[in-house]
Amino acid sequence: MDETTLFDGLELDLSKLDFVDIDESCISPISDTIDLLYPDEKLKTIAIEINTHNHLHCLETIKKRALHYYELPFPYRENKYVINGYRYYDFYDCSHLYHWHNETVNIWTHLLASFYFLYKLITFKNIYKTTAQNASISAFFLMSFSCFMLSSLWHTFSGWNKVKRRAKACCLDYSGISMLIVSSIIAVQCSIVPLENESFLQLYVWVVMSLSLLAMSLILNWHPKFDSPESRNKRILVFVSMAVVGNISIITLNPAKKGFHFFELFKNSFVWYLLGVVFYGGFLPERFRSDCPIGRIPTMVERNKELKLIKEERSIYFKLSPYSSSSSTSFSSSALNIDNSSSSWKSLWWTDYYLQSHNIWHLMVIMGCFGHLKAVETILDNMK
Ligand SMILES: [Zn+2]
Repeated sequence: MDETTLFDGLELDLSKLDFVDIDESCISPISDTIDLLYPDEKLKTIAIEINTHNHLHCLETIKKRALHYYELPFPYRENKYVINGYRYYDFYDCSHLYHWHNETVNIWTHLLASFYFLYKLITFKNIYKTTAQNASISAFFLMSFSCFMLSSLWHTFSGWNKVKRRAKACCLDYSGISMLIVSSIIAVQCSIVPLENESFLQLYVWVVMSLSLLAMSLILNWHPKFDSPESRNKRILVFVSMAVVGNISIITLNPAKKGFHFFELFKNSFVWYLLGVVFYGGFLPERFRSDCPIGRIPTMVERNKELKLIKEERSIYFKLSPYSSSSSTSFSSSALNIDNSSSSWKSLWWTDYYLQSHNIWHLMVIMGCFGHLKAVETILDNMK
């Protein structure tokens, strides 16, 4: 192939496309999204060039130090307020496991939680009245263990330098969340159904519906077009359906005690999840950091077709120092100038490594999961 290919007057030097060094052997949501948005071969090539820009720089630099946000290829930029401590490792390179980086807390919080729920599963005894109650609570322990373990794996893989496989590893996290939600719902359904009447047929219907939603969610998670814009409505529909099935089944399986059951679940579990969403969605507290200027993230459309992001505007999106507000392209003193006053803890520089919004979200999910177990046990006590 020619070194240089001309597309309608647009010159692309293919030797500079570092995407060839990125894994090409697996189908990924990102590549499919690009296919979908830009089926045209020329635009697809541009999208790949933009989204793999700086890959070789990262491969080299990570041998010496952790990376900062503005060095990363665009698909790795998920939180513009987390600036330092990024990994970019080969699968068989385990050195990152021994360093404190910006995913360490995310990995360990959910790894420890997974050990706890594995312990609960192994030591579980059939102390509840019905087979359904015993089976659903042991399934809840199994799914909680799986969810936290898969989350921990995803946060380990998020620094993988194969952009397509990294994107696929993200599906682990989504699958774990789906399993946790559905097993939580089924544990409640099996606990609230009165033993003395004819509600068991209704219980089976709700459990089958919940499991069907889990199956749909898992299929969607692993479908190559999971991340594509056309799947967005399906994703939302599945998660909303889970919430609807969970809440309606609380009402219809035991109408006499629906208020009590909902209140127990809300105060012990839902409140933690809601709090977690506030921190997670609001990028709290790292959005208030003051040690460096925060740049804007180009939109998905820009990242797929605006070559100027890596050419004319390269000094904005690929700054040499995150502490520089200037757009210098060389290592001038201004580009590397770090404001010493901002090294105070009040600048929130430490949110790169501790208590960033995602860490807090992880803690809230653990609290929500513990709370769910407590609520189910209270409900079961009340049913006696
Ligand atoms: Zn996470």
